[in-house]
Amino acid sequence: MNNSLAVTHRPTTFDTIAGQQHWIEALKTRVLKNKLPPVFILAGPSGTGKTTTGLVLAKSLVCLTREDNKYNPCNNCAGCRSVDNSSGANYMYLDGSGTDLANTIRENLRLMVSTAPVAGARFKVCLIDEFQAFSAAAKSTLLTLFEDVNTRSVIICTTTDPEKIHEALRDRSYEISFRPLTIEEQLNSIYTSNVLLSNYEEEMHQLAKASKGSLRKLWALVDRCDGDFSQSTIDLVIGKGSKQSRLDFINYCLTGKPKMASAVWENWEAQGLNLDNVSQEILEDMIELADETKPQMFKYIRLLSATLVNRPELFKIMALSLYNG
Ligand SMILES: [Zn+2]
Repeated sequence: MNNSLAVTHRPTTFDTIAGQQHWIEALKTRVLKNKLPPVFILAGPSGTGKTTTGLVLAKSLVCLTREDNKYNPCNNCAGCRSVDNSSGANYMYLDGSGTDLANTIRENLRLMVSTAPVAGARFKVCLIDEFQAFSAAAKSTLLTLFEDVNTRSVIICTTTDPEKIHEALRDRSYEISFRPLTIEEQLNSIYTSNVLLSNYEEEMHQLAKASKGSLRKLWALVDRCDGDFSQSTIDLVIGKGSKQSRLDFINYCLTGKPKMASAVWENWEAQGLNLDNVSQEILEDMIELADETKPQMFKYIRLLSATLVNRPELFKIMALSLYNG
């Protein structure tokens, strides 16, 4: 249920997709001109809009009522609904992480990409989600199927790892690289979906920062708050510890009380907090504390930031040694 809010608020038009503006504009133009490559590869980290974009693109191509001068799908006709239902005469959905590409699926896919669309649709579309998760055998089968794609069929592959897609396929495809979303793009998107969230600007900013560019992660964090956006809940959901506990930790480290500092750290561990996030926050607290009256602090910040990349254990050891360092 973790993704429920992300799914409920999934954009259904090109105009509401968060970020990736350059690529979204390029896709709109291609849809308007009916100029589609046989294969699209939508590549990038999780939660950056690959599947959402793939679904909107698929709908715009199988939509039965879209006018020639519009790029957005109607989201209402039988074609659009077939995308919502993951199956129809002109649409097929495959999830690389959930299928072994059995013979029947392979045959359906072959028919889908090698025959002309029906019922007045512009294209037939196959959306292959999480392409990287297919076995090597399945990938080479797909490669042979893709060799004779009908001119009115389009295959859309999403992947977190384009390097795992066969080079021959990448050569023939139109590849789009999705990047992590900025905090502003994420906030715009969630406020558009639910205007009430904009009443908690500071809290949403903290959640967006912790989601590291993934809109799906941000929605999951909002979901976990369950309507309670108090600072203590935000701290718990993000897993960064309370501000006071972090300041205590810093103080114990700087005044040579490693046992007390360790106790604070162990308490965070016991609470199941994300120690990467905690370390990051400690560093930011120190940046806040640093000024010309505490020049030593800058040295400590430099020392600690070098250990920050996914090494919370090392961070802890370095922090405990600050008093002597
Ligand atoms: Zn439609």
